[in-house]
Amino acid sequence: MYSIDLAAIAADAPARRDAYEVMFYQFQYDDDLTDEQLDALVNAVAAPIIAAIDCTQCANCCRSLDVYLEADDLPRLSQACHIHLDEVRVRFVDEDVLPESGAVGKLNVKPCGFLDGQRCRIYAHRPQACRDYPFLTPDFRWSMEQLVAGAAICPIIYHTLNALLEKVDAITARSSSAPDEPQP
Ligand code: SF4
Ligand code: SF4
Repeated sequence: MYSIDLAAIAADAPARRDAYEVMFYQFQYDDDLTDEQLDALVNAVAAPIIAAIDCTQCANCCRSLDVYLEADDLPRLSQACHIHLDEVRVRFVDEDVLPESGAVGKLNVKPCGFLDGQRCRIYAHRPQACRDYPFLTPDFRWSMEQLVAGAAICPIIYHTLNALLEKVDAITARSSSAPDEPQP
């Protein structure tokens, strides 16, 4: 039902960029829709898509993206690989990241060295960024630029944005037609 044809998605998502931008503009300036309401709406739209897509048939994020690391990720990698923290840093971590990223480093190879075929060899110990991807929420309203780029990589993002495109007019029309607060 939801295609994971990565070549087709990579070709189609850029063609939808203008439509995504207009949608984001509509959401961004809809003052009647709070961040929490918008996140709840996005989660409701994304839930059946996430349930329908088998990430082990895709793994495109593991092949395509940098994985930024938090301090807590390093002990988990140490445990997963049965090696000392210092060795984790030497073998797997590129510490050359911008300080404003808030990361202690990123995994030093791409595609990810922990990818085995389509599966993660350290799934139970994977970094937090891998757990949180594709970062649809929280803060959907403020993540829109990254999501436009992500739509060409991740079928979950692509189908979620497309499903939202079908709903955005109804959502923003409804919230803007809500009755005004009574004036004093
Ligand atoms: S650690 Fe696992 S989930 Fe994260 S990018 Fe690598 S293979 Fe994918
Ligand atoms: S999160 Fe997106 S890019 Fe990553 S494996 Fe799942 S569908 Fe593919």
